[in-house]
Amino acid sequence: MTRVLAADIGGTNLRLAVVSENGTILEEGRFEARLSSHGQTSQKEAQTCVIQTLSKAIIPFMEQHPTPAIGIGFPGFFHGNSGVLAASPNLPLLEDFALAERLSEQLGMHVAVQNDALCAAIGEQRFGAGKGKTNLLHITLGTGVGGGLILNDSPYTGEHGMAMEFGHLRVVTKHGRECGCGNSGCLEAYASATAVADRFYLASGIKADARQVFKLACDGNKEAVSILAEAGSYLGQAIAESVKLLDLESVTISGGLSHAWEFIHPSLMNTLNENLIPPLRGKVKVLPSSLNDNAGLLGAAVIASIN
Ligand code: BGC
Ligand code: ZN
Repeated sequence: MTRVLAADIGGTNLRLAVVSENGTILEEGRFEARLSSHGQTSQKEAQTCVIQTLSKAIIPFMEQHPTPAIGIGFPGFFHGNSGVLAASPNLPLLEDFALAERLSEQLGMHVAVQNDALCAAIGEQRFGAGKGKTNLLHITLGTGVGGGLILNDSPYTGEHGMAMEFGHLRVVTKHGRECGCGNSGCLEAYASATAVADRFYLASGIKADARQVFKLACDGNKEAVSILAEAGSYLGQAIAESVKLLDLESVTISGGLSHAWEFIHPSLMNTLNENLIPPLRGKVKVLPSSLNDNAGLLGAAVIASIN
């Protein structure tokens, strides 16, 4: 891996970094970037808005820090390693979007784009709490819920490049909450930062974002504690189903909501073990990321060097 640029695209902001060969972040910038297409009516408009917003942040940064390539973690379903976005549940109107190609034209450099959670899985396995694990499931808890899988030491992308859409595993089958993907009852509708804030509002009438819900839980607010514990329990349920399929032992979790670990982890482990097949109970380790929210950036740097 040579020194490259890396970008991690979140729900409300964009982080950019220069990453060295050994995974050290040498320079970093954070930019406000709202990519959601409110107010836009056509696909063309929404796609142009994404290209312009990203270029506006990236161009001055890359002029200051010239490198041969940039790797980008972006939320949504990608067609393999093509850099073409098939769809993004939290960014409507971005279907069939040749993101890597369009951005590469704009930036005049090599652009590699992959699913944000897969990038985080790659980063966590190479440099973080999943270091050295041959098989690893990494989960991101942010605006959406993402999943990335490392199988036999390689990122697993599936037949169409869209494997491990963990946030869209169905955890509630009857009258489940609606999800941005078009289905209902998805894990993301219960365990994303957005869902936690929304469910807290429905339970308490108090408008708060996920970070504030966490603070309220620390102060002993009962609704906040129980909504975070429920998010943990749904996560445990979805992890158990994944482990039944893949017999995984290591799971790591990053993203804003993972900071509420003390409220999420106990119920997560209880539900996970209750739902596992008996011989696997107690065998699965679930750890918070050890990379201070940098797993996605570091994984994006890795894909910039290999794609
Ligand atoms: C998307 C995933 C993404 C995750 C986290 C989900 O809604 O379907 O592709 O990884 O959000 O951003
Ligand atoms: Zn969904």
